[in-house]
Amino acid sequence: KAKQQTGSSCHFFSQELNQQAQKRMDLEVRLRKAMQHDQLELYYQPKVCLKKQNIVGVEALIRWNDPERGLIPPLDFIPFAEETGLILPISYWVLETACKQVVNWQQTGRMPIKIAINLSARQFQDPGFVSQVETVLQHTGVDPKWVELEITESMLMESMDDMLPVLHELKRLGVSLAIDDFGTGYSSLAYLKQMPIDVLKVDRAFVKDLPHGQNDCAITRTIIVLAQQLGLSVVAEGIEQIEQAEFLTNSGCDIGQGFLYSRPLTLMDLEEKLSRPLPG
Ligand code: C2E
Ligand code: MG
Ligand code: MG
Ligand code: MG
Repeated sequence: KAKQQTGSSCHFFSQELNQQAQKRMDLEVRLRKAMQHDQLELYYQPKVCLKKQNIVGVEALIRWNDPERGLIPPLDFIPFAEETGLILPISYWVLETACKQVVNWQQTGRMPIKIAINLSARQFQDPGFVSQVETVLQHTGVDPKWVELEITESMLMESMDDMLPVLHELKRLGVSLAIDDFGTGYSSLAYLKQMPIDVLKVDRAFVKDLPHGQNDCAITRTIIVLAQQLGLSVVAEGIEQIEQAEFLTNSGCDIGQGFLYSRPLTLMDLEEKLSRPLPG
């Protein structure tokens, strides 16, 4: 490709860089427009009590509904939004939308369920973060006991010391805290003990090969026992097969989430599902 260029390789590289910069600027403009034009949408994936088989909560998962490109999954724009800082207004929108939704369910007489919201590392670097959460809780009027904030284990690993006081402040607002993708990040058990968390979410990577992968069985059981011993609730994510669910239930896991129960749903589909019992 470079040979087709008549200029020097230096010229070629700077052209390439320009193209990359241009692409990123285009993406940034499109993402800003998406925010202005309500093209961001929350999908909701049910969390199910493994014993009783009822829906006990949902995880809010963002999608970008692009009129030209269709539904864009979070991994295709959240990392970019984190680099540019756009993640801050996006995260605010996610939190506000999720909290309003819980209030709406309460007002329309539906049984309230817990809503889990994914946080980004960038929010923890924002000095206004905790007071923003407090503001959203207050102006939506949501009871914080229905709000769960998810942070990934890898976020913790990167800046545990900075995050710890913020986690305590969040906790004081009455929300619950979950560690997402747990087991992949090698967090120290000593730290885990200090942290004001309520939930461990077993990473999908371990659930995938249950009940056949011997190591995965051992690791999953260990995480479940660890959670129990620390008085935490434990959620397994990425459950696709009934055998995985059985193994997890028999190992004492409280809550399951995955395609076996439901894919992430639009608000309309979730509300329909909530008004009917689960099949099976
Ligand atoms: P996560 O928080 O670990 O969310 C779970 C992901 O696993 C979701 O992908 C979900 O659709 C997918 N999943 C659920 N059950 C199954 C299953 O049975 N099998 C398989 N193969 N996958 C399953 P999604 O929605 O694409 O989100 C990916 C990641 O993007 C999330 O991982 C989270 O880290 C991030 N994310 C999503 N929404 C937000 C948001 O509002 N804010 C921030 N900061 N990050 C978000
Ligand atoms: Mg999550
Ligand atoms: Mg996860
Ligand atoms: Mg995950």
